[in-house]
Parts: sequence; C-alpha cells; structure tokens
Amino acid sequence: MKKTILINNAIIATGGEKNRILYNHSILISDDKIQKIALKNKFKGKYSKVIDAKDRIAMPGFINAHMHFYSTFARGLTKAKPSKDFVNVLNNLWWRLDKKITNADSYYSAIIPLISAIKSGTTTLIDHHASPLSIKGSLFSIEKAVRKTGLRASLCYELSDRDGKKTIQEGLEENIEFIKSTKKKKDNFLRALFGLHASFTISDETLEEAAYHGHKLGTGFHIHAAESQADQIYCEMRHKMRVIERLEKFGILGEKSIAAHCVHVNDKEIEILSRTGTAVIHNPQSNANNSVGVADIVKLMNKNVLVGLGTDAMTVNMLEEMRTAIWLQHLKNDPSIGFLEPINALMINNALIAKRYFKNIGSLKEENFADIVLIDYIPPTPLDESNFYGHLAFGISQNTVDTTIVNGKVLMENKKLKLNIDEEEIAAKSCELASKLWKRF
Ligand SMILES: [Zn+2]
Repeated sequence: MKKTILINNAIIATGGEKNRILYNHSILISDDKIQKIALKNKFKGKYSKVIDAKDRIAMPGFINAHMHFYSTFARGLTKAKPSKDFVNVLNNLWWRLDKKITNADSYYSAIIPLISAIKSGTTTLIDHHASPLSIKGSLFSIEKAVRKTGLRASLCYELSDRDGKKTIQEGLEENIEFIKSTKKKKDNFLRALFGLHASFTISDETLEEAAYHGHKLGTGFHIHAAESQADQIYCEMRHKMRVIERLEKFGILGEKSIAAHCVHVNDKEIEILSRTGTAVIHNPQSNANNSVGVADIVKLMNKNVLVGLGTDAMTVNMLEEMRTAIWLQHLKNDPSIGFLEPINALMINNALIAKRYFKNIGSLKEENFADIVLIDYIPPTPLDESNFYGHLAFGISQNTVDTTIVNGKVLMENKKLKLNIDEEEIAAKSCELASKLWKRF
C-alpha cells in the first residue's frame, strides 16, 4: 500500500515560473511524489499521515547551487592570519585547511551542514569538494553523509594543478569513479559533475584531460570562474585570453556546466555564457566576505544568462543569501535595481539548474517529487501572487522552517529532526576531528 501524507491548511506557494499562491488547498503526497494539489474539500479519503499546516506557508525545498561542505572545520579556526586579498585568503586559509582533511573529516564536515540544510529548508545542494592529500574515496564518504540525511546532492572533486602530478591523477580518478558510480545507481538523490578548481590553478594539459573524460562520461563541469580579478589577470598574462574564453576553448562550458561567481566578466564573456547556456552561480555573501566585488547579475540576466544562487559555504540558508544578494545589488546600483533578480535566481533559476541534473524537482506540482518545506508565517498584510516576493524577502525569510520533506519523507517536523541521527553525537565527533585537524593546520 502506498504511504500517503496530506498537508492541510497551509498557504501554498507553488514556486516555479508560474508561482501560484493557493489558499484553502491541500497537498497530497503519495510515496515519493506529489499526487494532487486541490481544494481542501476534494480530499475525503484515509491517509497514512495528516499534517495540519495552519499558520505556515508550504513552498518547494530550496536549492543551494554552489556549496563546499568541507569548509565546516574552518568554523572558529583562529590560526589563519588576516588576508589582504582573495589569493591570500586561499593561501592562508583554504589551501592549508583542505590539505589536512581526511575521508573521516569529509564525512563529518558534510553531515553537519546537511543537517543545517534540513533545518533551513534547503533540500538539494550542489557541492564542490577539496581534500588534496586524501582524495581517493572522498566523494564516496560525502555520499554516505548525503544518504544518511535523505537530501539530494550533486558532488564533484575540484581538480587543480596546485599540488602536483599525483594529486592531478587522483583528482581525475575520483571524479571519473564517482561519476560512473552515480550513473550506475540511477536514483534521484545523488548526482556528479566533473569538478575543476579555477582557470588560474589548472594548466592546459590538465584542462584538456578533464574535458576529455568529462565529455566521454557525458557530464558537465563545476568550476569557479572570474571570482576575483586575479583569475582574469593571470589568464590574460599566461594564456592571452579571458577566463570564460579559455573555458569555452577547452569545451568546459555548456548547459550541464556551472561557472561559480563570474564577478569579473566582460561583455564578450557574458555573450559566451549566454550562448553556451552555462549556469552562473552568484554567491554574494562569499563575494562580500572575500572583498572580490559584486557580480552584475542584473546585466547577466538581461543578457539571458541563467543565473542561480549559491552560498559558497557561508551558510546553507538560501533566504539569507537571497536577501544579501538584494542588498548588494541595491548598493551597487540604486534601490530600484536588483530586487527581482536575486529572488528569481533562487525561486526560478535554481530549480531550472537543478532540473538539468535531477528529475522532477524545484516546484510544487503534481508528479513532481515531494520536496516541500513548511515555514511559519501568518501574513500581516495581504499576500497574493502579485506581492509574494515582498513577503518572502521581508517576512517569510525571517521565520523558522517547521517541516522539511524530501522525496515524500519527513526529515524534520515541528522543528525536530525525524532522522535516525544523534545530533549531539555527530557534533561531538565533529569537534574531536576538527580539533585534531586544527593541530595539524
Ligand atoms: Zn566556491
């Protein structure tokens, strides 16, 4: 018999391109899918579970399109000295930290933000992993954490030339093995991309090899592009071309590929991103934190570039990221510019991007997989389709996620995790591993 869940009494925001706001409607989940969304009085049967979602809004689970689980153990680390620019941030912090990560660290540093993701209503994450001295099996360790939590994730290993030949070979192999393994399993929880760090850390030779394998496996690439001006300066000096031109030359761009950041791209590069259908992921909190600039997402979107939103591991809270994106666009331009774009990036484009990899997710409609969040919200002013974005940015985003459902499974209800996970035990183990890593740092 099918397991059914009926969600009653919520205000429903369906998400997707036709974001509908529905009152007096119920959502029926049957096993892993949304079977029906209709007026409440249409549901008369018996259901395995009924959720009374009064004073809550039901929305599609959020998607985080650029994440680094491995950054968890940097939290509270005081040993990295303050950095004057982005390349120094990499040298002083990230490239010291990632070299100390073991496969056990990879597991724990993933499961912590995955649990936080459930709590903040983020149900799908696209991650980019680095652990140059412990590459083999690292993605499989993270896969275990993802499966333990019941969320959806796309993983990749960030290949680069920065640690020599052995790590290049291992990075290639880890991507290849993980892509093959994911394809074989054929479920809708795990996906793989071919990971690349950034143009300025990858030689032509490595890029060529990665492109060869990526294409052979029919997968897209996930790379940081033009995050700081340094990436462009190095590319122009070394390769006599711009970063996006170089990535196009090697066949890295395309509809399955993700270029994170694109803070420093010129008109020609924007045209390439648009023409190739490459997804650009905006990470405003990280960009502000690293002082690399504010990506011109209004221009990118006006030129038909598919711009999504990621957190770059600053948090897993997509509504916080969305708000930051709005404020930074206002600061960069004027208060009339850049309100709609960040919200469209989260609510529409992230779903379009996720659907390039996962089947039937990103909006609440019949036959889609049931990835649903219920957020506390009693509208203090009229709420309908014309003003939902205002409520989302200034009201809903300030409230607590009450319930998170992925693939029809309730992962959190009444703000309590429903997983077979001992959170305290995980945090204790994570602390133990982090303090050991900090000693090695
Ligand atoms: Zn990143």
